[in-house]
Amino acid sequence: MSKSVIVIGAGPAGMMAAGTAAVYGAKVTLIEKNKILGRKLLITGKGRCNVTNFCDLDNVIKNITSSNPKFMYSALNEFSCYDTYDFFEQSGVPLKIERGNRVFPQSDLASDIRDALKRFILNNKVKIINEKVVSVKSNPLSVQTENAVYHADAVIIATGGLSYPATGSTGDGLKFASALSHKIIEPQPALVPLLGSAEICPILTGLSLKNVNVTFTDENNKCVFEQFGEMLFTHTGVSGPVILTASSTLDFKNHKYILSIDLKPALSREELEARILKDFSKYINRDFINALDDLLPRSIIPVIVAKSKIPERQKVNNITRQQRKCLVETIKSFKVDILGKAGFDEAIITLGGVDTLDIDPKTMQSKRVKGVYFAGEVIDVSANTGGYNLQIAFSSGFLAGKSCIGG
Ligand SMILES: Cc1cc2nc3c(=O)[nH]c(=O)nc-3n(C[C@H](O)[C@H](O)[C@H](O)COP(=O)(O)OP(=O)(O)OC[C@H]3O[C@@H](n4cnc5c(N)ncnc54)[C@H](O)[C@@H]3O)c2cc1C
Repeated sequence: MSKSVIVIGAGPAGMMAAGTAAVYGAKVTLIEKNKILGRKLLITGKGRCNVTNFCDLDNVIKNITSSNPKFMYSALNEFSCYDTYDFFEQSGVPLKIERGNRVFPQSDLASDIRDALKRFILNNKVKIINEKVVSVKSNPLSVQTENAVYHADAVIIATGGLSYPATGSTGDGLKFASALSHKIIEPQPALVPLLGSAEICPILTGLSLKNVNVTFTDENNKCVFEQFGEMLFTHTGVSGPVILTASSTLDFKNHKYILSIDLKPALSREELEARILKDFSKYINRDFINALDDLLPRSIIPVIVAKSKIPERQKVNNITRQQRKCLVETIKSFKVDILGKAGFDEAIITLGGVDTLDIDPKTMQSKRVKGVYFAGEVIDVSANTGGYNLQIAFSSGFLAGKSCIGG
């Protein structure tokens, strides 16, 4: 007789787990509290879905930012980034590879990815129940929803983390796991915008900076993060790829940070000064504030002028060498006080979750309760941006779906 499997949560991990278990012969029921399947998936990659990264196993492992990257070895071996690529192409979703090996659907529509997963489960006769699970019990293994109790040979918990709770990821699986005596690593928002100086950020809202070098220093002036790339100012602080990546490494419980932006990383201080002198001789009769248009984005000029302490109406032909040095320093090291992280509402992922020491990495089965499996962001595994987090969901979902059939 075929095994009965219940999967809780129809995100990418849950849909992959449910479809896979069905392919391997199980009778599968997928329970999702939202009417829509894969709600978070629809907003991934700004609606384009960066579905994976076209890279090998070692590169994924390098991009896992939680403390236990090796936990994912078996799952990535079973279902690699290349398998994800083939899975979607063979499901009728042509893909393309962009900068940094990021993979997107050619249509730029996340809904194509979600629909492919939906076809996968429906074609394999997965039964979908639209109810909210309230608890998972062992002995006998059962899942209690607001309306009924369901029994199964195996239960896969794929309820996601806590980020963007409006999509349904409200941390319920962590409560189920904790009640079944699993250790939970404290969840924290990650890949999240940072809150910054109220004097600077609101003025610069919407300013996007490409090709800048970003450094974070702590209260001891120790550099804790440095990266070249893209960032932007928001009304409450800073965001964009480099900032989101930095957010995973900053520890606001124990430290204070200053963000320093090199607005002209391609130029040394001497080269920048020469460039400024060239612009000043071109605009020799202008006020200082009107002489920087060739060098900097318009909206940042008044802030640079104020930070440089050079009077804005001073004629450029009167600017001293000392003042020029101050201007160079302001541009090479544009400082913003960082006040903390935004919350789960704005976090791309959740750091923390079910402790990987409580899960067998070869099967995704709980080491505490036989028949209970975990997949996706509910587990304490998280990674950089670039398609790696969805790959973690697919690989762990596949492995849980495949292994819950045996044993
Ligand atoms: C704005 C944004 C953009 C992102 N972009 C990308 C990207 O481009 N590439 C990338 O790799 N990653 C991206 N991510 C991260 C990625 O979306 C997640 O890592 C991934 O969705 C996790 O998948 P999951 O299946 O584990 O959980 P989720 O996608 O969170 O799915 C969990 C599901 O479980 C359901 N559920 C929860 N509790 C219950 C319950 N009690 N009963 C029944 N159902 C329940 C939820 O409703 C939900 O449908 C992005 C995240 C966000 C927020």
